[in-house]
Amino acid sequence: MARMPGAVWRPITINHTKGGQQSVRGVVVHIMDGTYAGTDSWFRNAKAKASSHFGTSRAGALCQWVDTADRAWAQADGNRTWLSVENEGRGGDALTDDQLDRNAEVLAWAHKTYGVPLQVADGPSGRGLGYHAMGGSAWGSHPSCPGSRVVAQLAEIVRRAKNLAGGTAPSDDEPSTYTPPKFPTGLAPNKAKPSAKTLQRALKAAGYMAKSVKESDNYGPQTQAAVVKFHNAHPQYRAARVTRDPAIGPRGWAALFRLAYGK
Ligand SMILES: [Zn+2]
Repeated sequence: MARMPGAVWRPITINHTKGGQQSVRGVVVHIMDGTYAGTDSWFRNAKAKASSHFGTSRAGALCQWVDTADRAWAQADGNRTWLSVENEGRGGDALTDDQLDRNAEVLAWAHKTYGVPLQVADGPSGRGLGYHAMGGSAWGSHPSCPGSRVVAQLAEIVRRAKNLAGGTAPSDDEPSTYTPPKFPTGLAPNKAKPSAKTLQRALKAAGYMAKSVKESDNYGPQTQAAVVKFHNAHPQYRAARVTRDPAIGPRGWAALFRLAYGK
């Protein structure tokens, strides 16, 4: 069972295959060619024979209709191995800024949950962020879903997902429900107080401390010197009171983590 935190759970009881999700290559972007409310009710109609894991409204709502352990019916042969997001709008519309954020959140969550790479997929046998038309006839022949304007926005969705995965604040002030993936040391980059060893590893990975320095639990002179070096290169992240162990603020730590691990 997998439900995305932050998505409103609006389960449908029909029009999907229980337990049918074999694997997750990535996330497929669709356009509803209709409204959010209309699509929500259509997926509950047995005549639809269609569904999607996720849906967005132009105003920025995000819901989940189908558990990602189950197969939604959104893109024919692509259903077994791809998740789906339906986006409110007419064919030919671009996604709104809020929709770009919601799609990025879904992609970032799929990255964390299924290891989906943060990239635009290069086709049905690729991985990452795809779109309905890329599947051609095997995916039901929908050459205008989601339309060229949305396809042109896929790279921006990936960019935003990378920001989310790096633990930076989202572009608006809504609370992030996303926990970044891949912490080599088990510590989130937005935690204010990394252990001395965690900090030393990040300083080494980012090139502010020689790899030969022995890691220790002490915030010793070499660690302090490396933090000063980092702060000199990034004065905007210098903590207000650089006196305590470890002397790096939450914003500085987040920035250092990004530099160190590219996330
Ligand atoms: Zn579609």
